[in-house]
Amino acid sequence: MQKNNLKLVGLIFLSYFLCSGTITAVEIFFNKDFFYPGDTLSVKVVQSLGTTEPIKCFWNGGEYPILPIGEGSTRALLPIPANINPGKNELLVSIPQETERKHLIEVRAKKFPEERIAFPREKTDLYNLPENEKQRELILNTLKTVSEKQQWQGKFILPTSGKFSSVYGVHRSTENFHKGIDISTKIYTSVFSPNRGIVILATQLNLQGNTVIIDHGQGVCTVYYHLSSLAVKSGQVVEKGDKIGEVGDTGLATAPHLHWGLYIHGEAVDPLVWIKEEF
Ligand SMILES: [Zn+2]
Repeated sequence: MQKNNLKLVGLIFLSYFLCSGTITAVEIFFNKDFFYPGDTLSVKVVQSLGTTEPIKCFWNGGEYPILPIGEGSTRALLPIPANINPGKNELLVSIPQETERKHLIEVRAKKFPEERIAFPREKTDLYNLPENEKQRELILNTLKTVSEKQQWQGKFILPTSGKFSSVYGVHRSTENFHKGIDISTKIYTSVFSPNRGIVILATQLNLQGNTVIIDHGQGVCTVYYHLSSLAVKSGQVVEKGDKIGEVGDTGLATAPHLHWGLYIHGEAVDPLVWIKEEF
């Protein structure tokens, strides 16, 4: 599907060069002119002629894959986390048989609120359970899942309805920054998959409570914490709007709410961006 919201940023650098008789032309597009912390940067790379050798992206200290999106196009999805340095951030696109292309990506400053959280005594005892570290690693590793096929289609939908009691990026006394959004609503309210994907984790954890992680493909995963019950199993394919569980207060939660997070290659970004923008 042709995306009409892609903007050509600055000059299109068209480079032609001769290599064993083949000519390669590479065009690079970004989804926006400038970004805020929490946004997702989409780097679309179109190779109109020649071979399709692997192109790599280097961004914010990490190396990211460029994956096929059909019609000879490839794309890298790059996280712009809440703690990124605002200003011009360097993006390197490494194209075989060509020198690296350097792009400066403008990230504008955004002020995130601060929040102090106090948990009742019986909940804070959860902090000291011996399995916590192992469970934390399980989550971090699961969120780094990269499956090549894009499962999602179009914009994401909100997984449940209610009040946004905390947004992405809030500075917290209990963590560096809030890695998702909290939607407060009545206990047992249904939680739905915001887009198509494959359930890769559905289990009970000490701090996160009943947890679901969905792999939407190409390094995009969503998480759901504190559910009262799970309606899916690991390995199950879910469509946009399928029920995955019910809102609860299991784990380290003071009241019934859904913690919803969206991760790009293991880094948390603002899930609400994926409701407004189509990737
Ligand atoms: Zn939360």
